[in-house]
Amino acid sequence: MSETAYIALGANLGDRAGNIAAALEGLGRVPGVTLTKVSTMMENPAMGGPVDSPAFLNAAAEVVTSLSPEALLEAMLAVERSLGRVRTQKWGPRTIDLDLLLYGDRAIDAPGLTVPHPLMHQRRFVLEPLAQIAPQVVHPVLGQTIQELWERSVGA
Ligand code: ATP
Ligand code: CA
Ligand code: CA
Repeated sequence: MSETAYIALGANLGDRAGNIAAALEGLGRVPGVTLTKVSTMMENPAMGGPVDSPAFLNAAAEVVTSLSPEALLEAMLAVERSLGRVRTQKWGPRTIDLDLLLYGDRAIDAPGLTVPHPLMHQRRFVLEPLAQIAPQVVHPVLGQTIQELWERSVGA
């Protein structure tokens, strides 16, 4: 059994584009994960974190995977660690951040894993790259397409 999943990538430290490219390569090397679509990279101001945080580059990727959602997240966290991600302050600057946005049409609310990602529909820096690669995909909880969520977030 394989599922289609969507991952948000963000970087605001070091060689941001290089870090995103390396994360995509790392994801593609995970056994049971095939990278099928990648958005362009988009620059966005840092939101919510410490003042004066450097701007982010953001992107989104589609994977087809035989891994469970938990195993996929574990692999994503391992890719983050391999790129030197250190967690200090909440929403602090990071070399790379990989968030699991959607895993098929599953809704999961477990300690350590919430899918769909609980803030994805409010974040234009997530919806814009996701709408590039998955406009017609339906958010399984909200029942709206990514394109609809993106359009409704504009101006919000
Ligand atoms: P946000 O989740 O608001 O984007 P963040 O990405 O900065 O914040 P992190 O420090 O990267 O937060 O993640 C904290 C923990 O969130 C991770 O260790 C992971 O266990 C948990 N988590 C829960 N759901 C998800 C998900 N869908 N994708 C990624 N991590 C998740
Ligand atoms: Ca995040
Ligand atoms: Ca994260």
